[in-house]
Amino acid sequence: MPMRIESRPDPMPRTADAVIIGAGIVGLAAAFFLAKAGIRVVIVEKRRRPADLTSARSGEGVRAQWETPGAIALMLRSIELYRRFADLTECKESTAGLNQCGYLYAATSERGAAGLAERVARQKARGLSDVSYLTGSEARQRFPTLSGAVSGAAFRAGDGTVIVDRIVEGYLAAGYARILTQTQARQICVRGGAVEGVETDRGRIATGLCIIAAGPYAATLLQPFDGAPPISLIRGQIACFDADNVPADHPATVDVDNGAFWRPDSSGARITAPADDSETIAIPIDDPRPDLGYATRALTSVSRLCPFWTGVAKTAVARTVYCGLYAVTPDGLPVIGPMPAVRGLFLNVGFGGLGIMASIAAGERLAAVISGAHGHDPRSAFAPERFHDGRALSVEPMTLNLYREGGSAHAPPPNADSKEQA
Ligand SMILES: Cc1cc2nc3c(=O)[nH]c(=O)nc-3n(C[C@H](O)[C@H](O)[C@H](O)COP(=O)(O)OP(=O)(O)OC[C@H]3O[C@@H](n4cnc5c(N)ncnc54)[C@H](O)[C@@H]3O)c2cc1C
Repeated sequence: MPMRIESRPDPMPRTADAVIIGAGIVGLAAAFFLAKAGIRVVIVEKRRRPADLTSARSGEGVRAQWETPGAIALMLRSIELYRRFADLTECKESTAGLNQCGYLYAATSERGAAGLAERVARQKARGLSDVSYLTGSEARQRFPTLSGAVSGAAFRAGDGTVIVDRIVEGYLAAGYARILTQTQARQICVRGGAVEGVETDRGRIATGLCIIAAGPYAATLLQPFDGAPPISLIRGQIACFDADNVPADHPATVDVDNGAFWRPDSSGARITAPADDSETIAIPIDDPRPDLGYATRALTSVSRLCPFWTGVAKTAVARTVYCGLYAVTPDGLPVIGPMPAVRGLFLNVGFGGLGIMASIAAGERLAAVISGAHGHDPRSAFAPERFHDGRALSVEPMTLNLYREGGSAHAPPPNADSKEQA
């Protein structure tokens, strides 16, 4: 039985085994795995449709090229699950649209190339065996679109892109959950240190289990609770172009010297411009505005590394600029697990710029803990406890560089030239 979408439900369900707040890709993935574990899930979603906020505005990039062992392992698992999505959802037609076109980081500066070589060595030591460092000439030989000025590159063929709409369709077709749209959670009701319900604008649902998957609104819902993880909001943008002559099989490509990113998509490409600054947003809103001139800035930033873009840019037409909020933790990693001191409250939040790629493995992980298949490890890289138990955080630099001045949404290595911050 597919997930059922009920708009402004009347009557509201009075009870549920579990209530998930938020039907973005993170909430849907959690619902899918919880349902597989036999847990009766109700999702409350304030918008008209599932996966209509941050999840609809991404670059759809998936990659295992991260630095911390936890992030590498989580993303390897996600890519594996996306690869087997049709089997997982038991529906032949439902693929995740995974295109393992590879992810290429390239530098024209010597410092950038040295940074990439060092990063690849660190990644290999931490479990990512199939990432390669390429010298400038090796990189140009393999990818003739690259500029003659390229001095070094890092490449992993198993990385690439997915199609969010297909993933959402797959969850909806296979998931066994009720999704109540246009229904806003106002408060998580707790008595005696345990969850007893979720108060919505359409009435209360009694439950002993609540999962927060509210994307940029997670911190607002967590405000009443001591020990909540710190989450800040950063505005992010990506421009989508209709363009001819963009090689459809080109890897997703990051210029580590200026921070620009591009990847082919069905009608052209998506491009992230180098960030001039990262704007922090105090109060979440659904529709932050993109910068004026963002598409032009994006388009002009990619030809430095891939000169064919100079020609393509002449006829490329900006279809849209997506703008959304990254929900970012201090170490750049998501929070997946039980909220300390509140029985029955679980977090699946703080996914920053990696929620499309991480959501599926995160959902699997969370469902395993909730169903009792695995115990929760408070020492894990994603444990909610990590911000309050005095440990030194294991920071994921490939996420956090993104939010610093001059970083890109796809994070250059720590010691590249130009705008990169330490
Ligand atoms: C420009 C940009 C590019 C990106 N590129 C990539 C990329 O290439 N790869 C990648 O992996 N990630 C990328 N990301 C990040 C990714 O999009 C997010 O991490 C991911 O979408 C987060 O999913 P989510 O389900 O947590 O949040 P959302 O999709 O925002 O879903 C949260 C849902 O909760 C609902 N909600 C909130 N509060 C309530 C409430 N009180 N009651 C009911 N419903 C509520 C919201 O309406 C929303 O539908 C990018 C993000 C941006 C902005």
